Amino acid sequence: MSLTPASPAPRLIVLGDLLDFPKDPGFAPPPEAEQAGAVRWRPDHRIRIEAGRILAVEPASTPLPADWAQVPVHDHRGQLILPGFIDTHVHCPQLDVIASFGTELLDWLNTYTFPAERRYVDPAVSQAGAERFLNALWAHGTTSAVVFPTVHKVSAEALFERASRARMRLVTGKVLMDRHAPDGLRDDVTQAEHDCVDLIQRWHGRDRQAFAVTVRFAPTSTPEQLQMAGALCRDHAGVYMQTHVAENRDEVKWVAELFPDARSYLDVYDRDGLIGPRAVLAHGIWLNDEDRAVMRAHGAQIAHSPSSNLFLGSGLFDWRGAEADGVRVSLASDVGGGTSLSMLRNMGDAYKIQALQGVRLTAWKALHTATAGAAAHLGLADELGLIEPGRMADLCAWSWAEGDVGRHRDQIAQQAASLDAGRLHERAFAWMTLADERNLRETLIAGGSVFRAPALAPSLLASA
Ligand SMILES: [Zn+2]
Repeated sequence: MSLTPASPAPRLIVLGDLLDFPKDPGFAPPPEAEQAGAVRWRPDHRIRIEAGRILAVEPASTPLPADWAQVPVHDHRGQLILPGFIDTHVHCPQLDVIASFGTELLDWLNTYTFPAERRYVDPAVSQAGAERFLNALWAHGTTSAVVFPTVHKVSAEALFERASRARMRLVTGKVLMDRHAPDGLRDDVTQAEHDCVDLIQRWHGRDRQAFAVTVRFAPTSTPEQLQMAGALCRDHAGVYMQTHVAENRDEVKWVAELFPDARSYLDVYDRDGLIGPRAVLAHGIWLNDEDRAVMRAHGAQIAHSPSSNLFLGSGLFDWRGAEADGVRVSLASDVGGGTSLSMLRNMGDAYKIQALQGVRLTAWKALHTATAGAAAHLGLADELGLIEPGRMADLCAWSWAEGDVGRHRDQIAQQAASLDAGRLHERAFAWMTLADERNLRETLIAGGSVFRAPALAPSLLASA
């Protein structure tokens, strides 16, 4: 038998100022977080990437190994390189209804969302929707996501197929809803179970794809369907579970009427075995102390969705209180209840929600939560969230400032930072607050460029 040498693994070099977060800075003031080693700032560094993974991270002045001399260089010197953001709760079909006027959650679903989701029964609509949605995530600096499609199996398949081609880490699953939804958007227990098992067998664990048992929310599933969903979680180790909980006070009241024997809204899920370490529950604004104890005991996480909570008038999430009670918290856009796929915009909104409660959210805490924090909560810390050898090369390059106001503010912050290394937070906070997708220069997933700012495209690739 003759051995054919394998073709050399694709390689890439990225240059820039690296910022990542090896530890949770909590709600400590910036200098304390930095002293505790939660913030890692490595200006003028080089990342060497091979076969989709980070091979080495070193100062740019380090001599390059001879066999790397011809490797393409993506030159972002003087700009920020961060791990790609992880959005832990977002709805693919709701790009069609983002920024819809005037309703709270339950009316918003009936008026805007359900009619839009019904169109995804058509495979062509599902495929075009997945393409548009994933491209939009990448163009906003998000490289991994936990996604709601629609009730239609084809809508989940379209996402898996497109994400798989990009080697993107994606968590999704067909939505379960067998009541309180219009015609064309309801499944039934038997068919839904069949569809979920088929999706698990074909997609879970393949090409960075992971299946999530996806209960829309308690009101749209019968008790029988919730039991089936719990059995899926039990029988298929490693699958995730995603749903909504305690987002809005009218919703909480409705759940209490529908499930009079449940201790609370969260208990509707917990008693059927849906709450575990891989459970991602959006919102959780109106959970009580006992619910938080249940969340802590299971290691489940809340996907805090600040822009959505403000836009729909749902309430102010007590992030610090939830974490003090041991609940894991990640950050999410919840588009289309949220008004931007930009995790930076959502961090800005999260800051304002905390400010209204007398808490100051640092850039370090917000950025950690959307990178290494979410990776850890999803059980993917070895793969995502840090710029380190062995991790997948899911990276974004950002400009520090765009526009006259942004550039002016950044110049002032930069002068302060140059006088005192401890002032990096001032610059990073202004960046987090003022930046959005216009600041994005490039998005890499598994070392492949999936987005590049049009103005940069010709000048980005320097010769080695
Ligand atoms: Zn949602």
